[in-house]
Amino acid sequence: MNTVQTLSSLRDRLKPSARMPVVFLGHGSPMNAIEDNSYARAWTNLGQALPRPNAILVVSAHWMTRGTTLVDISRHPKTIHDFYGFPPELFAQTYPASGDPELARTVVSLLASHHGAEDDTWGLDHGAWTILKFLYPEADVPVFQVSIDMSRDLTYQLEIGKILSELRDRGVLILGSGNVVHNLRALRFDGKQYDFAVEFDQLFADKMEQRDFAALADRHALGSLLQMAHPSVDHYLPALTIAGASDSRDSLTWMTDTIDLGSVSMRSFVFHAA
Ligand code: ZN
Repeated sequence: MNTVQTLSSLRDRLKPSARMPVVFLGHGSPMNAIEDNSYARAWTNLGQALPRPNAILVVSAHWMTRGTTLVDISRHPKTIHDFYGFPPELFAQTYPASGDPELARTVVSLLASHHGAEDDTWGLDHGAWTILKFLYPEADVPVFQVSIDMSRDLTYQLEIGKILSELRDRGVLILGSGNVVHNLRALRFDGKQYDFAVEFDQLFADKMEQRDFAALADRHALGSLLQMAHPSVDHYLPALTIAGASDSRDSLTWMTDTIDLGSVSMRSFVFHAA
């Protein structure tokens, strides 16, 4: 297993730099938004360790499009409660951060080659706000989402990450939110983990360490293991966006790496200028 860096160690390693880190967080259950658990604490600590961004661009598993990569240009993105069967306390949560229409329109231009387009109907889905409320509890950093195009190869999301990476030099935090393993059909409650979940999670970690992103985007080679880990790849794609937004000079630091409910990996990571 890879050694998980402690957050205090991460803080030491995040030296002041003009270039912003890029972050992928496993968000897991929406209940994490209102529970005091190890994830909430890790996200709080991360928010304190990161350089303060000018704006946050979130690529969430929960904004899926086909044929376009939409960018939310709202001035006041609404909090979306895109789940059901949860307690009223969760539906009462809001994250009142401003958007950044000007920067969002710049992102649309950057993504012209990847069918970037403006949207003013989305907002912040629970893949975004359930973690942002811990990262930036004051909701005082402008934030906007970019969708994932479900109609493309996995490599497409690596390309989008690469395009977005230039924003790192403009003080923008690029945040991916999904899960490295996400099979809700196979949830179990006996405290055990499926072999496929452990295997995919470890393969992901190994390939990331090697910076072999092409292997992580090779649907054919990943084969049935990918199918088991991700019956639908929505929660996987944001991890590839963040991989694509890294560069060879970055250091990789792992955060939470547990597997919940047998088949949901909470593995999270930060790429930061060494
Ligand atoms: Zn989710």
